[in-house]
Amino acid sequence: MPATIIDGREISAQVRVEVKAEVEALSAQAGRAPGLATILVGDDAASAIYVANKRKASAEVGIADFHQHLPAEASQAEVAELIEACNDNPEISGILLQLPLPAGLDAAPLTAMIAPEKDVDGLTPVSAGRLMQGAPGLRPCTPLGVIELLDRHGVELRGADAVVVGRSNLVGKPVALLLLERHATVTLCHSRTRDLAEVCSRAEVLIAAVGVAELIGAEHVRPGAAVIDVGINRTEAGLRGDVDFEAARDRASLITPVPGGVGPMTIAMLLRNTLAAARLQLA
Ligand code: NAD
Repeated sequence: MPATIIDGREISAQVRVEVKAEVEALSAQAGRAPGLATILVGDDAASAIYVANKRKASAEVGIADFHQHLPAEASQAEVAELIEACNDNPEISGILLQLPLPAGLDAAPLTAMIAPEKDVDGLTPVSAGRLMQGAPGLRPCTPLGVIELLDRHGVELRGADAVVVGRSNLVGKPVALLLLERHATVTLCHSRTRDLAEVCSRAEVLIAAVGVAELIGAEHVRPGAAVIDVGINRTEAGLRGDVDFEAARDRASLITPVPGGVGPMTIAMLLRNTLAAARLQLA
C-alpha cells in the first residue's frame, strides 16, 4: 500500500491557528503583542520574498511587525548597531537576521550578537550549545518543523531507529539532536558515509536534508518507514526533494511531498518560536 502523504500545508495551517489563539491570550495578559524584528540587508530578490512571507504570516497571527531594512552598502558596524538596538527594545520579542548577507558582511559574528532569548531562528552559538546540552532554549525552525510533522502523525520516536542524511548546522545536526532529545537512536550520515543505502534502509524514521535531487531511492527506504524530505532542489523537471518520491512512497508508511511537506512548517515554527520568546521575556 502506498504511504500516507504528510500534508505540511495543512499541519502548518493548524499550527498557525493555535499560535494565533495563544498570541491573543498572551497579548491580553501582557498588554502588548509579541513583536518580531526581521532584518533584511540589501535587495536580494529571494531574501526579500522570504522576509515578506514571514512578515505576512506574523501579521496574520497578531505578531507586531518591527521590520528593519538596511541598504546593501551598510557596514558591519551599522548592522551590529541595529541588532543591539533590537536586543534592547522590550517591544521586540524575536530577531531574525535574514541570510545570506551582502558580500563584505560577516554573518557569523552578527548572528552571534542576537540575544539568546530573542533568537527565534535558533541559530546563535548559545542556542546551538543549549540544544547540544539538552538545556531549554529556542531551537531552529526547520528541524522543529520536521519533529512537528512526525508528532502530528503519531510517530513514536522513543527508541526508534532514526537516520538523518546531511550534517549542516542549519538542518542535519539540529534535527539529529532533537531526535536524540526525544530518545531516538540516531545515525547521522553525510557525503562521506559508506554505503548510504544500507545505513538508511535500517531507519524507521528517515530524514533527508542533503540538497541533491532524488538521492534517496527505494533501496534506501525500510518498508514501513516514516520519510521526511527537507530538500528543495530546482531541477529542469521542476522542484524536487532529496527523495525520489514515487519510488519511496511504495515502501514507506508516511512520506512528505516536495513542495508542501517540510517547507510550510518553517514559518509556522518561526511564529511559534516568537511566541515562546515573548513568554520567555515575560517570565
Ligand atoms: P548543506 O549544503 O549545508 O548541507 C548538506 C549536507 O548534505 C552536508 O552535510 C553534506 O555532507 C551532505 N551531503 C551532500 N551530498 C551528500 C551525499 N551524496 N550523500 C550523503 N550526504 C550528502 O544544506 P542544508 O542547508 O542542510 O540544506 C539541505 C537541503 O534542505 C537543501 O535542499 C535546502 O534547500 C533544504 N532546506 C529546506 C528548508 C525548508 O524546507 N524550509 C530549510 C533549509 C534547507
